[in-house]
Order: sequence, then C-alpha cells, then structure tokens
Amino acid sequence: MKEGVEVTGIDVAGGRVQGVLTSAGEVATRLLLYCAGAWSSSIGRMAGLEIPVLPYRRHIAVTGAFPAVPRTNPMTVDFQTSLHFHPEGDGVLIGMSDRAEARGYATDVNWDFLEKMFEQAARRAPALAGAGIKTAWAGLYESTPDHQAILGPLPEVEGFWCAAGFSGHGFMQAPAAALLLAQLLLDQNSEIDISTFAFSRFAKGALVHERNVI
Ligand SMILES: Cc1cc2nc3c(=O)[nH]c(=O)nc-3n(C[C@H](O)[C@H](O)[C@H](O)COP(=O)(O)OP(=O)(O)OC[C@H]3O[C@@H](n4cnc5c(N)ncnc54)[C@H](O)[C@@H]3O)c2cc1C
Repeated sequence: MKEGVEVTGIDVAGGRVQGVLTSAGEVATRLLLYCAGAWSSSIGRMAGLEIPVLPYRRHIAVTGAFPAVPRTNPMTVDFQTSLHFHPEGDGVLIGMSDRAEARGYATDVNWDFLEKMFEQAARRAPALAGAGIKTAWAGLYESTPDHQAILGPLPEVEGFWCAAGFSGHGFMQAPAAALLLAQLLLDQNSEIDISTFAFSRFAKGALVHERNVI
C-alpha cells in the first residue's frame, strides 16, 4: 500500500485488468480490489464501468458534558427524521441527515443545518434543549441505490474486485467484508455467501434494500 498516491487510470485490455496508472507511476497487475468509498464511481469509470455509488454529506455534532443524558442511555434513532444520538464521553453525539441536500463532495460544516438539527433534537428529546455544540464535523456517505455495499468480483472486467458503497455503515461491516472477500479471493469460497451483495444485482433489479440507514 502507498499513501498519498492517486489512482489516475486503469489499464484494461482483452476484457481484464492489466495494470493501474497512478501519480507515482504504473503498476502492472492482473488483480485490482478497489475500495474508494464515496469516490467509487470515478474509479469504476476508469475501467469503463458505471458503479452506482453517490456521495452525500452527513454531519455529526458533539456536546460538552451533558449529565441529562447518562452514559447508560442507549443509541436512540428517530427513523422519521433520521435524528440520532448517543452518549459520547460525558457528552452526547447527535446526527441527522439533511435529506434536502443534493449529492456532492463538500465536507465543510453547514452550521445553519446544525441549528435545524438541534431544534429537531429538542423537539424529539426535550432534555436535549439545553445542549450546545463542543465540536462538529461532516463526512461523506457513499450510497448505493439499495444502501448496501458492493462486494466481490465484477465479471464485466476480469480481475476487477470491489469493496465499496457501504452507504454509511462501513465501519460496522468492514471487518466481516474484509474477511469474507479475502476468503473468496484466496479459496474461491467464503464461509458466508455474499453473492447478494454482487454488482450484478443492479442489472437484475435484485436490490436488497437496507431501510435503517440514517
Ligand atoms: C458522519 C458520518 C458518520 C458515520 N457513522 C458511522 C457509524 O456509526 N457506523 C458505521 O459503520 N459507519 C459510519 N459511517 C460510514 C463509514 O464512515 C463509511 O462507510 C466508511 O468509512 C467507508 O469506508 P471505505 O473504506 O469504503 O471508504 P473511505 O473510508 O472513504 O476510503 C476511501 C479511500 O479511497 C481514497 N481514494 C478515492 N479515490 C482515490 C483515487 N483515485 N486514488 C487513490 N485513493 C483514492 C480516498 O482518499 C479514501 O481514503 C459514517 C460516515 C459519516 C460521514
């Protein structure tokens, strides 16, 4: 692995991967496993593939010490609005999706939206009415049409493997996804069948909707 090196192209010939072009030169390889998160569609296009992963900004804010929400409080989600919160240190972590925001790569904090998020938090959980922001940040969800990851080889281009499109739950799924993909690559079999996550599900219309993405 090389950090700080950009993939700028993929050499495909004879229907299979032959190499990767990077900002540090060309790497000859017949196997490429790409895991480019929110940037996955641009990597796919380098190999002539339309991979449906779109970037959406998502915010998190953390309060200062907030005893009204004790550390025993469970993660709480309001699926109607996507507002969610849980204890974080001696404070509270609060998040909510801005469903009106178009896709894009911006990751600066939209403070106007955070204001709306805190208003919603106070409506849903009045104890949060006095909460103030200690720190806040934004990052990108990498969303597929059914909010499920794309895992495994893409038969359209031999040697092109994918582990991307985790749609906002990649931390949770990464350990299992990495193990099962390694098994599939090395042994041609994985202890859990992951074929429902195959890229081909989009062409077949066999989507597996994850409805609890917030
Ligand atoms: C606010 C927020 C809260 C979240 N909360 C949770 C949570 O509670 N639980 C959970 O499970 N998940 C959560 N997630 C989702 C989780 O962060 C992602 O699903 C996960 O980080 C995706 O990992 P990844 O490795 O697929 O992509 P990334 O971590 O995005 O990594 C992709 C990498 O590819 C690199 N890259 C892109 N293009 C190129 C190129 N051309 N050349 C070289 N490198 C390239 C990028 O620089 C990046 O380092 C949250 C996300 C956000 C934004």
